[in-house]
Amino acid sequence: TLAALVLNNAQLLDSTEHEVSERKQKEVILQRHVSQIEQFQQELREQAIRDPLTWLYNRRYLNETLAREIVRAARINLPLSVLVSDIDHFKILNDAHGHQTGDKFLVEIANLITKYARASDIVCRYGGEEFVVLFTNTSIPGAMVAIEKILRTIEKHEFVVNKNSKIHITVSAGFASLDAESNIYRLLDIADKRLCVAKKMGKNRVVYE
Ligand code: GH3
Ligand code: MG
Ligand code: MG
Repeated sequence: TLAALVLNNAQLLDSTEHEVSERKQKEVILQRHVSQIEQFQQELREQAIRDPLTWLYNRRYLNETLAREIVRAARINLPLSVLVSDIDHFKILNDAHGHQTGDKFLVEIANLITKYARASDIVCRYGGEEFVVLFTNTSIPGAMVAIEKILRTIEKHEFVVNKNSKIHITVSAGFASLDAESNIYRLLDIADKRLCVAKKMGKNRVVYE
C-alpha cells in the first residue's frame, strides 16, 4: 500500500541519515588521531635535535647547521661566527655540591646564554659543560657585544646551592669568525684552541684572535 511505502521510505531515509552521521563521527575521530600523530612526530623531531637537560640544541644539530651555514654565508656574504665556551672549575663545583646541583647550574647557565643570543643564533650544549653559540646573521661586533654580556652576566649571577650558600661561576671561551679565518671549515677547532688559550690566561675571559 501507499502508506506502507511512505513508511518504508521514511525508515530508509532515517537509517541513511544515521549512517551519514556515524561516518562523520568516524571522520572526526580519525582526523583527531592524525593530528595527534603529527604532533607526536613533531615532538620526536624536536627531541632528536635537543639536549634533554637544558633543551638547547645538541651537538649533532650544531654540526649539521654549521656545515649548512658556512656554505650559505660564504655564498651570499653573510656574517657567521662561533663561540666555544667551557665552565671554569666545574669538576670542583660538582665534587663539592653534587652532580644534581651541577646539573641545575648547567640549566641556569644555558638560560643566561640564551638570554643574550638572538633568535637566529644557534645555542647548543656541545658537551657536558661546554656550550657553543653559532651567530648567524649577526655582525662580528654584534656577536662580541653579546659575548661580553654573556660572560659578565654569568660572572655576576648568584648560583644558589642552598639557603645558606650562594656561589659564583665563570666561563672561558674562544671565538672565530668567517671573515677572519682562512680555513673556514675549521671554525670550531680554531675557537676551541682559543678557548684553551683563555683557560691558560687565567679563565673567565674570551679570546677573539
Ligand atoms: P676547567 O676550568 O679547566 O674547565 O676545569 P673543569 O673542572 O671544568 O675541567 P673540565 O672541563 O675538564 O671538567 C669537566 C667536568 O664537568 C667533569 C664533570 O665533573 C663535569 N661535568 C661534565 N658533564 C656534566 C654534566 O652533565 N653534569 C654535571 N653535573 N657535571 C658535568
Ligand atoms: Mg670541559
Ligand atoms: Mg670546564
